[in-house]
Amino acid sequence: SKDIEVLRGHIRDIPDFPQKGIVFKDITPLLKDPETLILTSRLLLDPFKDEKVDLVAGIESRGFIFGTRLATDLNAGFVPVRKPNKLPAQKISVEYDLEYGTDQLEMHRDAISEGDRVIIHDDLMATGGSAKAAAELIKELGGVVIGYSFILELGFLNGRAKLEREIPVHSLIEI
Ligand code: 5GP
Repeated sequence: SKDIEVLRGHIRDIPDFPQKGIVFKDITPLLKDPETLILTSRLLLDPFKDEKVDLVAGIESRGFIFGTRLATDLNAGFVPVRKPNKLPAQKISVEYDLEYGTDQLEMHRDAISEGDRVIIHDDLMATGGSAKAAAELIKELGGVVIGYSFILELGFLNGRAKLEREIPVHSLIEI
C-alpha cells in the first residue's frame, strides 16, 4: 500500500555494517520524521487492536522504541527482553545460535505471570533466532505468546520457519 511505500522510503541501507558484507537496514530516518514515526505505531497496532493483550515484550534495543508505544496503545504493560548482564533482579536466560557462535537473551523472572498473553516485538526479524529465544523465555515463565510484531522481515532468511506455526507473525515490510 501507499503507507508501506512511505515507510520503505524512510529505511536506508548501510553497507558493511556492523561487519563487511552485511547490509544493515537503518530505521533512524523513520524515527526522525514525525509522520512516519506515528504511522509506524498505527500500522503496528492494527493487527492486534481487537485482541486482549497483557504484555508487549520488546527485544533490546530497537524493540523498546515501538514496543512501549504498542503496549500503551493496547492498554498492556511493557517488559524488556535484554542482552546478558543488563537486568538487575532475578532472571532467566536462554542461549541461541548465531551464524558464528552463540548469544543470550534474558528476562526478569517476575516479568510474566502465569497465563499472561504476550506479543513479542522487535524492529527487524532476520534469522528469527532472537524472536524464538524470546518466545522460549516467555513460555518458560508461564506466558502465552499470541503474536509477533516486526517493522521489517528479511523474508529470504525464512526466520518464520523457526517460530511456532500457529502463532501469527505480523511484519509491516518484507524484504
Ligand atoms: P535475528 O535474531 O532474527 O537473526 O536478528 C534480529 C535481531 O538483530 C533484531 O534484534 C534486530 O534488531 C537485529 N538486526 C539484525 N540485522 C539488522 C538490520 O539490518 N537492521 C536492524 N535495524 N536490525 C538488525
